[in-house]
Amino acid sequence: MTTATDTDFIGLEHEHAAHNYHPLPVVVSHGEGAWVTDVSGRRYLDCLAAYSAVNFGHGHPALVAAAKEQLDRITLTSRAFHNDQLGPFVTALAALAGKDMVLPMNTGAEAVESAIKVARAWGYRVKGVPAERATIIVADGNFHGRTTTIISFSNDPDARADFGPYTPGFRSVPYGDPAALEAAIDETTVAVLIEPIQGEAGILVPPADYLPAVRRITSERNVLFIADEIQSGLGRTGATFQCENAGVVPDLYLLGKALGGGIVPVSAVVGNADVLGVLRPGEHGSTFGGNPLAAAVGHAVVDLLATGEYQQRARELGEHLHARLRTLIGRGVVTVRGAGLWAGIDIDPALATGREVCERLMERGVLAKDTHGSTIRLAPPIVVERDDLDWAVDQLEGVLTELGA
Ligand SMILES: *Cc1c(COP(=O)(O)O)cnc(C)c1O
Repeated sequence: MTTATDTDFIGLEHEHAAHNYHPLPVVVSHGEGAWVTDVSGRRYLDCLAAYSAVNFGHGHPALVAAAKEQLDRITLTSRAFHNDQLGPFVTALAALAGKDMVLPMNTGAEAVESAIKVARAWGYRVKGVPAERATIIVADGNFHGRTTTIISFSNDPDARADFGPYTPGFRSVPYGDPAALEAAIDETTVAVLIEPIQGEAGILVPPADYLPAVRRITSERNVLFIADEIQSGLGRTGATFQCENAGVVPDLYLLGKALGGGIVPVSAVVGNADVLGVLRPGEHGSTFGGNPLAAAVGHAVVDLLATGEYQQRARELGEHLHARLRTLIGRGVVTVRGAGLWAGIDIDPALATGREVCERLMERGVLAKDTHGSTIRLAPPIVVERDDLDWAVDQLEGVLTELGA
């Protein structure tokens, strides 16, 4: 019997899976903590963590135990009936966020779509915006998901072209510019939807006074502040929410990715009853949203975050990572941005594309992902060991040297 190789699996995928991704040529079959193993037994340090969906590492014992226990009990009831996992989960998640209500969904895009509906309904029913006129302000360079409404307000041609007609009702303003944001608000504006750090755009961190200004302006103008913390939240940046680092509390948090512990898709809109309470039975829903398996895993994730231990680890390891990366500036690296264990590294475009750097990192046993030309991002699981992190930076240094930096 012959063993299937990387090439076999890549071939099958290429032939029968739609080509909506361009993966690195590695075929992963196992994972533990921050490390994954490919089909030929080679180990790699995972420095992407599934875009922050695996913040707690692969196969975290507490999360796997919660999932296994729930698998043996019940996994899906639909919201036509109550289940004994949802109530405790939403109570714990609301407490973690300092809010009183949770709308459970599955994917990040669904959380964003749900928040758009909630904001519009709030606008008509509470703020008194004339019917069908609601507008939502977003930021240039945003990434909030892939559904038709969400790509309607993207400025990324790849995300958007040939997928119209687009959903109206959005205004995009420069990211990081509170004056532009304020100027775009009028009596139809129901919400401002932004990422506290723009992930897909290249880990863009706005000026320190930006989020406080957004909070002040939205409060003054009776507009909801919706923070998409799907990638920035749940420990990644050294806090439960990146908004916390900026000293602000939005009206709605959008969570996803790490909320499912890397096991099942779990997303949520978290806010107070004066906003989320606008939804009435039958107006919104999801067959899988709030299912007992998702709720059990999500609850275990909240329990991990409740101690603050992971946030602190991301903060400490993050400082170390950023300090080490900054030493590469001028040696193949142009700039380093980010917060906590999240770094966007601009490689000198004369040297190589981000993709080339990621391919060479892969050869050396480090898995990372490029974004937008010559930026690479690092977002290892928070459980990563400091020595492994150092080793990954050594590999990046090695790649840059090899490229002639
Ligand atoms: C990943 C992401 C989403 C979309 O989440 P999906 O689960 O892929 O639908 C939305 N917003 C941000 C900031 C993200 O990083």
